[in-house]
Amino acid sequence: MRPTISYIQSRFDEYNYRFFGGSLPALPIKLSHAKGFLGKVTFTRRKQGLFGGYRNENFVMRINVRIDLPEEVVDDTILHEMIHYYIAVNQWKDSSTHGVLFRREMQRINETGGRHITISHRLDESQQAQAHIHKKRVIAVVRFADGQTGIKVVPKQMRHIRYWDQTAPRRFAISQIEWYYTDNEYFAKYPSSIAMKIFLIKDPSELPLANAPRLNISR
Ligand SMILES: [Zn+2]
Repeated sequence: MRPTISYIQSRFDEYNYRFFGGSLPALPIKLSHAKGFLGKVTFTRRKQGLFGGYRNENFVMRINVRIDLPEEVVDDTILHEMIHYYIAVNQWKDSSTHGVLFRREMQRINETGGRHITISHRLDESQQAQAHIHKKRVIAVVRFADGQTGIKVVPKQMRHIRYWDQTAPRRFAISQIEWYYTDNEYFAKYPSSIAMKIFLIKDPSELPLANAPRLNISR
């Protein structure tokens, strides 16, 4: 099936009542024809006050209608995205994209509701490759000589990464560049380009990179 917005809306309302105690606020639901994901919940992170953290807001749920899927897979996709929404709308921080909190909720709903939600969706390999849920990004963490830290999102191609890795130290007083590969949506707000523009980070310990693999760039 290829779900309509009213189908997704009715499933959302039913599951909200059954699995989340009706606690999830309504959010805009959109259909997507993107190749890259089956479902997605996007939101913006707004900084709060001087010392406060971030607040997640402006939520949108997108469900893909590009691929014809069994109803059960569509419904599990809606539930998968509802778990992401549940965590984000409560302003919780998970240990990773499908971390401890996500898995706890997934297990709870699978057990009590007889569902089969997974962290990757039940698809064959070619569909999975086509419909990967979260966008992967390459991140440069730049340590400046004066002690400040900045980040830059660079396109995934190795020639772009090498170019940036070699050019940036000629423009700025940089002591070290660390490269990471991550699907954390935290980095979605930064433009991906090879421009020599580095975004300063006030508190580098807040960067969600603890579980991200490091890339070794041979110089
Ligand atoms: Zn997910």
